[in-house]
Amino acid sequence: MTDTTTPTPSNFIRTIIDEDNASGKYAGQVHTRFPPEPNGYLHIGHAKSINLNYGLAQDYNGLFNLRFDDTNPEKEEQEYIDAIMEDAAWLGAQWDGRLFHASDYFEQLYDWAEQLIRDGKAYVDDLSADEIREYRGTLTEPGRNSPYRDRTVDENLDLFRRMRAGEFAEGSRVLRAKIDMASPFFVLRDPVMYRILHAPHPRTGNAWHIYPTYDWAHGQSDSIEGITHSICTLEFENNRRLYDWFQEALGIRRSQQIEFARLNLTYTVMSKRKMIRLVQEGHVSGWDDPRFWTLRGLRRRGYTPEAIRAFTEMIGVSKANSVVDMAMLEHAVREDLNARTPRVMAVLEPLKVVIENYPKKQEETFDVPYYKQDKTRTESRPLPFSREIYIERDDFMEEPVKGFTRLAPETEVRLMSAYYIACTGVVKDAAGRIVELRAVYDPATRGGTSTDGRKVKGTLHWVSAEHAIPAEVRLYDNLFAKPFPEENGENFLDNLNPDSLRVMDALVEPSLATAQPGDKFQFVRDGYFVVDPDTRPDMLVFNRTVGLKDTWRP
Ligand code: ATP
Ligand code: MG
Repeated sequence: MTDTTTPTPSNFIRTIIDEDNASGKYAGQVHTRFPPEPNGYLHIGHAKSINLNYGLAQDYNGLFNLRFDDTNPEKEEQEYIDAIMEDAAWLGAQWDGRLFHASDYFEQLYDWAEQLIRDGKAYVDDLSADEIREYRGTLTEPGRNSPYRDRTVDENLDLFRRMRAGEFAEGSRVLRAKIDMASPFFVLRDPVMYRILHAPHPRTGNAWHIYPTYDWAHGQSDSIEGITHSICTLEFENNRRLYDWFQEALGIRRSQQIEFARLNLTYTVMSKRKMIRLVQEGHVSGWDDPRFWTLRGLRRRGYTPEAIRAFTEMIGVSKANSVVDMAMLEHAVREDLNARTPRVMAVLEPLKVVIENYPKKQEETFDVPYYKQDKTRTESRPLPFSREIYIERDDFMEEPVKGFTRLAPETEVRLMSAYYIACTGVVKDAAGRIVELRAVYDPATRGGTSTDGRKVKGTLHWVSAEHAIPAEVRLYDNLFAKPFPEENGENFLDNLNPDSLRVMDALVEPSLATAQPGDKFQFVRDGYFVVDPDTRPDMLVFNRTVGLKDTWRP
């Protein structure tokens, strides 16, 4: 489990906040927000942003807002709004009634737009979208002023009001800020503030025929909410100049934007547009596919909020873009599950073993602790044993290779928490495939220890044939076959991993009969598993969260 006593390591954002607090810039206030556009589901990258923003608010005794940047009604849906709230809450963020929407500010934003028009700082432009792009210039050439740039204040106000009233066709006019068409920063070349859209909005219905752009809404929303440190990803570095310009031109409360490097993770694509394609084209079974790096996918896979928090602390925040190794995320969940999960036995590829000297009809029960990794926990479960058991198929080798320490003809191994057994025979079908093993057990090794000091090299997990429960076990690999699914300009859809899901007919110990969706276990020697919501009364379904072997090298 995450050690909550470990102090969060410092970072450049904390340094800025410490300096602001020392200078009294915001009177010691720290107020952050997470501002998703409700046009997709949250992913592990968003988790980095949520944990950062919420974590800072907590650590500095500040406040944290959840704000939907719902300025584009064409792409936004209630489904996303609901899912984002659920997932952010699952991750542990608390906004305590401070749930806001950019659409809460539409009226205020409109008033401020009129103010800029009156101040000669905004104008209605009749150029088409294509023309606006053409007039904007290039990196090496300045843009050109629109022929509509010098309209009078009265004309601008009249046209803007009629835009609001719905008098004009979509795309026929926009409102633009009048800044500088020759600015070296594209965002300052008279950015669009409003576009005409005769589309209903999930929250404001048919009240509006014009909608603010993200760039116009964002900084003002921060200002309205009293956000002090407006933390965003590096792509918005240039936009900061625009957000500052708007707040200054309006003379409103200032917030300070701070950019950090977004999370990139191997074996994933993090753009919402691409993730939506994976869902819509059926490459994943839905937003909660356990192979998906959405928060719902990770949750269904068996990830915990604590593991994701530990991961976001491990990766830290920086100003330099980089790609984090998926093995590090897996390391974080392995550490967390290692500490918290009970150990149970399941056999994923069963091979029957008949213990010939164990009396027919006899059975006995071992009392086996659940938490061998945690001496403070004493819970245990009864584990039944009988004459016929199943072991893992690859725990037997008829002709053992060098170094193989598990079961082979004439060798003795320990059945975990039960007895020593030795293999005495191999039964094959007509095709030569091994279908059953014969063995003998030593009654003097009850509990898995010998009294004569005899040692065995291998310890095998097992289930009693009569008592075991069938279960469907789903093993996952990365959704993509390559760590960089878009390298060399490749299409990520061409790099899907055909073996990302393997389904096994497994047998699990009977204590798992009552396991509920979301319950997590270590299947000894096979990894960490969680009960999937697909579990039915007649068939348990488990997802492997992660295997036991840690491949992360710092
Ligand atoms: P896209 O660019 O795919 O449309 P987005 O990243 O802009 O998506 P938003 O809903 O706007 O999605 O994101 C909400 C917040 O999450 C933003 O503040 C953004 O900076 C942050 N965020 C998004 N992706 C990442 C990431 N990979 N790492 C860190 N923060 C991220
Ligand atoms: Mg965005």
